[in-house]
Amino acid sequence: MIPFNHQSIVGNELSYIEDAYKRGKVSGGGKYTKLCEEFMESRFDARKVLLVTSCTHALEMAALLLDIKEGDEVIMPSYTFSSTANAFVLRGAKPVFVDIREDTLNMDESQIERVITDRTKAIVPVHYAGVPCNMEEIVKIARKYDLYVVEDAAQAVNAKYEGKYAGTIGDFGCYSFHETKNYSMGEGGAFVINNERFVERAEIIREKGTNRQKFLRGEIDKYTWVDIGSSYIPSEVNAAILWAQFERFDEIHAKRRKLFMRYLNNLKPLEEEGLLRLPFIPDNVEPSYHIFYILLPDERTRESIRSFLLDRGIHATFHYIPLHMSEYYISRFGRISLPVSESVSRRILRLPLYFGMELKNVDFVSKNIYSFFGGFKGMYSMHGGIWKGGYTG
Ligand SMILES: *Cc1c(COP(=O)(O)O)cnc(C)c1O
Repeated sequence: MIPFNHQSIVGNELSYIEDAYKRGKVSGGGKYTKLCEEFMESRFDARKVLLVTSCTHALEMAALLLDIKEGDEVIMPSYTFSSTANAFVLRGAKPVFVDIREDTLNMDESQIERVITDRTKAIVPVHYAGVPCNMEEIVKIARKYDLYVVEDAAQAVNAKYEGKYAGTIGDFGCYSFHETKNYSMGEGGAFVINNERFVERAEIIREKGTNRQKFLRGEIDKYTWVDIGSSYIPSEVNAAILWAQFERFDEIHAKRRKLFMRYLNNLKPLEEEGLLRLPFIPDNVEPSYHIFYILLPDERTRESIRSFLLDRGIHATFHYIPLHMSEYYISRFGRISLPVSESVSRRILRLPLYFGMELKNVDFVSKNIYSFFGGFKGMYSMHGGIWKGGYTG
């Protein structure tokens, strides 16, 4: 069996959890929380990073900080996870969806301007699969219309756009350390604050609306309720897990890159034959290698190949019923059409990719994709001849 995803212990997770207990501090804000935050601040060159309970919650914090309210509009792609929209809908805003680009599957920045109204408050680019959006253009539009930019960088931890880390380019960045993401603490995330004027209030919102962080730093002698807020700080147990993963930060990235590139090289001939399409990576970005997907010509082919692989012990998946096609959106806001999002949703197949995976597993998956297409007649040899002479499945 090759699972779609598998979380492994990569190093000191268990001993750090034990250490957190020995320190007598398992609630949030202790040694491991600080280590993780300082690591991200220096590594990503971010003004301020707060470890939080999820990326969903980081997005909610952004909506609270921007005072999003009933009647506001927030522009985002429809081809994303529900959290991207929910964070703003919870405050009463309307998500205004734009379609995605055919190449990167990221929000199509050329469609943003025409949906801006005087109610628009923010743009929320989602760096799909860990490939950053065209941030230069998005930030330019935001400046022109005086809008905020909240990056949903859930999948883009350690991805770069023109040398800058995803999540540090807009006013806020939101990372996920959920089990399914590149770096994990079980459930968790981080909130990156790049706009100086929101730093203090963000700390208050994370700490149940109190100025407890100031108190802990010794800046005030007692703490109290000063604003709205919630409980968005994760426990030290979760932070300890993440710190163990951060200790192998570059190694995890390098391993995913290696697996991703192997898929890309293995499957290139199938793309050249026009049988499928592979991920596109623009020259000015370094992705996080979060997702390796293939795009099939139609839904029927996608479903046949998915069950073909499943029969051979390979778990490949698809995702995102575009949000504008969801029951909830239609019942509240009515029907709209976004052709690229709809088409991609029917044709995409995500292949297994996780830190504990081996190159031979990637070869096995690739080989079965060749088998599905009836063997590939074009001659090629892979990696010193695993399939020398062509595979005829
Ligand atoms: C995973 C994900 C989220 C949610 O992350 P959580 O940490 O599970 O809340 C939000 N947006 C996108 C694009 C994601 O992939």
